[in-house]
Amino acid sequence: MGMSMTGKTVLVTGGSRGIGRSIALELADQGANVVVGYHVNGAAAESVVETIRSMGRTCEAVQADVGDPGDAERLVSRAIEILGSLDVVVCNAGVTGDALLVRMTDEKWNNVIRTNLTGTFNIMRAAARHMLGKRKGRFVLIASVVGLSGNAGQANYAASKAGIIALARSTAKELGSRNITVNVIAPGFVETDMTATLDNTVVSSYLASIPLGRAGTPRDIAKAVAYLASDDAAYITGQVLTVDGGLSL
Ligand code: NAP
Repeated sequence: MGMSMTGKTVLVTGGSRGIGRSIALELADQGANVVVGYHVNGAAAESVVETIRSMGRTCEAVQADVGDPGDAERLVSRAIEILGSLDVVVCNAGVTGDALLVRMTDEKWNNVIRTNLTGTFNIMRAAARHMLGKRKGRFVLIASVVGLSGNAGQANYAASKAGIIALARSTAKELGSRNITVNVIAPGFVETDMTATLDNTVVSSYLASIPLGRAGTPRDIAKAVAYLASDDAAYITGQVLTVDGGLSL
């Protein structure tokens, strides 16, 4: 276990479950103080908070819908109040709403774009104001391999993730001169609540296409986030790091 995040202040959106939970725990394990953002699952968020506090770190959960600009602003200001500053922001909150194009409802389209893409923008805009003042910061955005390759039945989700990648590349150019980096992790198939509802044939076909022969774990993703959030990654910006066991090869 490295302690490369000692004293660093971190906000993780969607930190109550799955990949975000694992990111919060990993960064805390490496020494960070953490604010855990969540939407509706207060009990799950509080259990992450208890675990992180037992490591001796400062930690609080804050409820917010990242898709709502006012909520996102409030989440970022609360995180700064609680932690004193924000060194690292991990935009991880995300949802799916799968349907084939002709059956895609306006509601499914709008909800996925609003949460994943607009939510990431809302959080980044609020946090960047703070980081610009400090002339230092790190954003790590969670996209998906389907944002690079596309996926049948996920036009809304894939478009939201491709949008996140373009948002990262643009803001990396804007913010670089102020020592703020923006990078993206593109996970492949990871076992969480999000993928638990997929039927067995879909899961088997994913597994058969993964050269490393297994599904990803939330920890596989968290370790890559920790690297991009660390001082060791100071000269990396605007990049997409695929963490997928080779699925997209
Ligand atoms: P998950 O287990 O379903 O967890 C989703 C998290 O996002 C929860 O913490 C949830 O909070 C939060 N969230 C959802 N809507 C929100 C909103 N409107 N405002 C604030 N928070 C919200 O999902 P996961 O699998 O860990 O996915 C995490 C990220 O990785 C997502 O961006 C997802 O697209 C991406 N990803 C996942 C996979 C995969 O295979 N699992 C692959 C590629 C990319 P509550 O607990 O309060 O509901």
